[in-house]
Amino acid sequence: TAPLTEVDPELAAAIGHELGRQQDGIELIASENIVSAAVLEAQGSVLTNKYAEGYPGRRYYGGCAYVDVAEQLAIDRAKQLFGCAFANVQPHSGAQANQAVFLALLKPGDTILGMSLAAGGHLTHGAAPNLSGKWFKAVQYGVRRDDGLLDYEELEALARAEKPRLIIAGGSAYPRAIDFARIRRVADEVGAFFMVDMAHFAGLSAAGVYPNPLPHAHVVTTTTHKTLRGPRGGMVLSNDLDIGKKINSAVFPGLQGGPLMHVIAAKAVAFGEALRPEFGAYQRAVAENARALAATLVEQGLAIVTGGTDSHLMLVDLRPKGLTGKAAEATLERAHMTANKNAIPFDPQKPAVTSGIRLGTPAATTRGFGVAEFQEVGRLIGEVLDGLAKSNDGTNAAAEAAVGARVLALCSRFPIYR
Ligand code: PLP
Repeated sequence: TAPLTEVDPELAAAIGHELGRQQDGIELIASENIVSAAVLEAQGSVLTNKYAEGYPGRRYYGGCAYVDVAEQLAIDRAKQLFGCAFANVQPHSGAQANQAVFLALLKPGDTILGMSLAAGGHLTHGAAPNLSGKWFKAVQYGVRRDDGLLDYEELEALARAEKPRLIIAGGSAYPRAIDFARIRRVADEVGAFFMVDMAHFAGLSAAGVYPNPLPHAHVVTTTTHKTLRGPRGGMVLSNDLDIGKKINSAVFPGLQGGPLMHVIAAKAVAFGEALRPEFGAYQRAVAENARALAATLVEQGLAIVTGGTDSHLMLVDLRPKGLTGKAAEATLERAHMTANKNAIPFDPQKPAVTSGIRLGTPAATTRGFGVAEFQEVGRLIGEVLDGLAKSNDGTNAAAEAAVGARVLALCSRFPIYR
């Protein structure tokens, strides 16, 4: 019963510093969010002690009555949230949710067609260093050079030529709505399964702010910790109960052992929160704030890939200011704004340097930022990047300090975890 500060002061200090970093900085990483105290409480609960291999009502361990309640709540709420017939809430992460689909529907050596990492896809959609690129014949589509939009014609031509067993849509840095119906048509034409990885936009889809892939895809995967604002984890959804059966066997015993029952409980809490009307208002604000931030960044002389966003994220092209993503990420962090460098389509820079940064609005919208605050964030980003662009020795201390003070003032008006 001794508190962490007594049992392990070193670790407690690290957590305390991380709390301070989250409280006193603006989180602009598109894949992050700020969960509720209730989600934290469920995840930090005694459910971490429990083994529960199997599924509710069909466990390989005794004593599962209460964790069964938690998992069934998570399953039922997930199905209600996305209007679908099947949910598996056990994947430990988004990557494992995707692997479960591969194990359920593919054999090693099968052809898969996904969006390339360079164009905004995810590693697990067939990138060479990932299992998905090593164990399958991965073919990759991208975006159009002139406008940065998903190249449906390339996707269709590759599908017809390569006859993949699985076509994957969704990504980590693609800001626009995806025409799921169009991709399903070509999947049907070539006899492929169609999977959508909605990890980034799941919360927006749940609220009707971005298209819901469930009516179109054979199977949908997601993380639960991005726009969906739950604990870190993954989930697989479908309307096809035969596919659902295969997914259940693939997750357990195919890939995983005991499910993380404390995380599944926290997923149930987050899905319950997402079913409330306030969540719809939150997601509408996330998208509105993203449009406001993108427009302000254009006023600041930056370019936005595709010219804007239909979602919570945008990809900023830094070339108009002659900056790299690596340098921009570092100077923003010193001004207490966290973002990640990100390749832009056809990026001339190496992946560790890049010409872009990816920005997202979910976390700061959770703490209460609206359009006016995001316009201010856009001006602060412009100011700190201009400081670096004009610097002749690569340092930017004056702009970082001036902007950092304004960031702190903004954060103190919208406190978290007080
Ligand atoms: N799929 C997409 C589209 C993602 O953006 C991510 C994470 O960034 C993942 C899958 C992987 O999720 P995780 O980090 O939980 O394995």
